[in-house]
Amino acid sequence: MTGKGAASDADRRRLPAVDEVLRTTRAAMVAEIFGRNALVEAIRSELADARRGATDVGGADQILSRAKRQLERAATPSLKPVYNLTGTVLHTNLGRARLAEVAIEAATQAMREAVALEFDVGGGKRGERDDHLRALLCELTGAEDATIVNNNAAAVLLTLNTLARGKRAIVSRGELIEIGGAFRMPDIMARAGAKLVEVGTTNRTHAKDYAGALEQPAGLVLKVHTSNYRIEGFTKEVSARDLAVIAHAHATPLVNDLGSGVLVDLTRFGLNREPTVAEAVAEGADLVTFSGDKLLGGPQAGFIVGRKDLVARINKNPMKRALRVDKIRIAALEATLKLYRDPDRLAQRLPTLVSLARPLAEIEAQASRLAPQLQQRLGDDFAVDVAPCASEVGSGASPVETIASAGLAIRVREARGAQRALIALNSALRALPWPVIGRIADGALVLDLRCLSDEGAFLVNLAQLKPAKSEE
Ligand SMILES: *Cc1c(COP(=O)(O)O)cnc(C)c1O
Repeated sequence: MTGKGAASDADRRRLPAVDEVLRTTRAAMVAEIFGRNALVEAIRSELADARRGATDVGGADQILSRAKRQLERAATPSLKPVYNLTGTVLHTNLGRARLAEVAIEAATQAMREAVALEFDVGGGKRGERDDHLRALLCELTGAEDATIVNNNAAAVLLTLNTLARGKRAIVSRGELIEIGGAFRMPDIMARAGAKLVEVGTTNRTHAKDYAGALEQPAGLVLKVHTSNYRIEGFTKEVSARDLAVIAHAHATPLVNDLGSGVLVDLTRFGLNREPTVAEAVAEGADLVTFSGDKLLGGPQAGFIVGRKDLVARINKNPMKRALRVDKIRIAALEATLKLYRDPDRLAQRLPTLVSLARPLAEIEAQASRLAPQLQQRLGDDFAVDVAPCASEVGSGASPVETIASAGLAIRVREARGAQRALIALNSALRALPWPVIGRIADGALVLDLRCLSDEGAFLVNLAQLKPAKSEE
């Protein structure tokens, strides 16, 4: 039987019974690992496949082996660790920031133990979960008060709903962004119950545009950091500082959605300038919203910092309860934020910054070490070269600027069928126990090494690569 078409009657009669498979010598061991019920189910489904002719018939031992493989496949986690060699450091589809060791330890501890989440240990009274982060956030941003929710999308939604439900919300046409996924500012406004008032044009918005819109009452003025694109050329936007003056002259709060909020000046790490949260607060925004897992380098979270009275209103909104974060993330956030008290050592401790600030020479040296090893692994059909790369921060920060990096460019020597061979190699790399995620560009499979820290483990993983033969 070759596994094509339904099994013949004779074949079917040769199939072992479930009990027979369970009596094989290795069955007890497999049952011990995966549980007897799961093993019986797996044997049944393998027998059904054989009966349908989907697989060879086989004896009891063979059926057991297949059942064991099926159970092993089902047991591997769906959420696999991968090597992010895409060149995009904060890759949303690859989970954005990797956490600092102290944050991982804090989160693990919080998972394992009962913690004083909403309990004031000193006074023995009820406490608030945001208390663990409030003072830290105020210290790092200069804000009066702070609150924490599930992500920055939730922070924006909650802020709009609290301050502008049933009211006008004023925003520049040039800032009505789509972040990706289904996060579009106009849709979020609608869901928050705010009436969107667009001012200005796509490329130019003036102070008088805002002032005109503010002649009628409004719930808030929203400024959005256009994080994932940039308008260039004949443009005009009103600075946050000027906008605060205009909004306050009309007794209206200014909310500044920074997106990837940074807590320190990134130029000290040789990176492009991004507005810091402290600057946004100092410029007069009444509330500032930003993400936990973008440039800040923590777990997914959204922060709202700013005026005490407004934060108090936000905390009273019943939606806050639906958007709050759990103890695991609070623990990881506290540990991550505390690292910012010592900015000098951030570039050694915070994986996001370790990757972003990694010296080019170091990445190039790594590429030179790895190129011959990968070449040997792939054989003569492929050519592996050290290549310059342009990394991106990702997740909407510094969308236009790139960071000089280095990596490996893999090309196929034979021009015929080259694209197909590259695609096959790309999927072989993704099929590794620890999948390697690169990208295909200009006829080469490129692995940007900026985010590769454990070279030894990478090589061990690579040793399991099944040479990709382009199928004819
Ligand atoms: C990324 C981003 C958001 C959404 O933040 P999440 O943390 O991904 O929910 C909102 N606004 C801006 C400007 C952003 O860049």
